[in-house]
Amino acid sequence: MNYKLDTLCVQAGYSPKSGEARIPPIVQSTTYAYDSTQDMADLFDLKRDGYFYTRLANPTVAAFEGKVAALEGGVCAIGCASGMSAITLAILTVAGAGDNIVCSQAVYGGTFNLLGTTLPKLGIECRFFDPDAPAEQIDRLIDGKTRLIFTETIANPAIVVLDFDKFANIAKKHKVLFAVDNTLATPVFCRPKEWGANLIIHSSSKYLDGHAAALGGVIVDAGNFDFKGNERYPSFNIPDESYHGLVYADLPVAFGTKCRAQMIRDIGAIMSPQNAFISYIGCDTLALRMERHSSNAKKVAAYLSKHPKIEWIKHPSLEDNKYHKLAKKYLPDGQGGMMSFGIKGDVKKCAVFMEALKLITQETHVADVRSCVLHPASTTHRQLSEEDLVKAGVPHNLVRLSVGIENPEDIIADLEQALKQI
Ligand SMILES: *Cc1c(COP(=O)(O)O)cnc(C)c1O
Repeated sequence: MNYKLDTLCVQAGYSPKSGEARIPPIVQSTTYAYDSTQDMADLFDLKRDGYFYTRLANPTVAAFEGKVAALEGGVCAIGCASGMSAITLAILTVAGAGDNIVCSQAVYGGTFNLLGTTLPKLGIECRFFDPDAPAEQIDRLIDGKTRLIFTETIANPAIVVLDFDKFANIAKKHKVLFAVDNTLATPVFCRPKEWGANLIIHSSSKYLDGHAAALGGVIVDAGNFDFKGNERYPSFNIPDESYHGLVYADLPVAFGTKCRAQMIRDIGAIMSPQNAFISYIGCDTLALRMERHSSNAKKVAAYLSKHPKIEWIKHPSLEDNKYHKLAKKYLPDGQGGMMSFGIKGDVKKCAVFMEALKLITQETHVADVRSCVLHPASTTHRQLSEEDLVKAGVPHNLVRLSVGIENPEDIIADLEQALKQI
């Protein structure tokens, strides 16, 4: 059956056999018992499916992975300890010392640090681009050592909407993997595979869980990239001696298998069964929640755009937004609950406003059921230099607002009373 997305949110990933638990049990066990030595040997050789150690696979994590893979239309998903570990493991699956990654400069602060500071220490160079730059300019960054193009569907916190066609064309031309962090759009509003992405990554700590209850990340292998004979990816085409000479490019699920068999095996950073359970249950209501996040955000953005104390506001639902056209194409059903705006005045005025909020809380988190605000320049992005702040699209007066699913009138009333305090 080809179920619709909202049905998959509720039903995908787990179906009990007669007499089994209706929802995925939390299999809180590191290991699994077997009667036969041969059965276990076959598992280690990847000759059959099954569980032998939770670092490599776990039934509760598998239920969550199955659900996200179904939502994104992928052939395989890998649950990770966090969004950051998902990004790290995805990159290390394809890149090593001497290779390079080409990445949007308008990405999540943690991603910018990982690619700009930590990966270079391992010899992986990162070349950043302005996602709005013409294709030729981005094209020029790609050379024979480029292993991945990395972008975000809706950039956090710059709220840049990705021009998928531009990047899919560049990626196809160079036969290089196209990875998209789809955290803020979610598969409810955008399925990057349909626009040519090869890898889809989520911080499930955000909308997928949706309740700010469980940290997690997930990598989805879209199954639409041909590694066979591709000179960019020798590690997919030569036998893996650490896995009995397996050639990943020959497998139906090349990326997903290599990521799990090598990176998850060697580095760990897997999602815990408890967090997988919470995230799985969270996804049950994803379609419903995203609808409400998005309609609330649209109302809040319209209100703020007319407020005299607001200098500027970015939400793709607004007709005068730079990305409104792209959003109409790639996010027609909703643009999510995240927006950013600039308070007229300096950092102190931002603080007065934020501290006056009563319903909306100040927190580092975004994209859960409760509305919250953050001042990135003094928190998530405080390690960045003035120049990098501008590059990341984070001016000093930027307030990031994650609109929750409360009644929209209450959210607007809270903003109204706090803006009066400035
Ligand atoms: C939060 C976030 C991450 C990092 O995820 P964690 O689960 O916090 O490690 C990565 N990308 C985006 C777009 C995010 O919002």
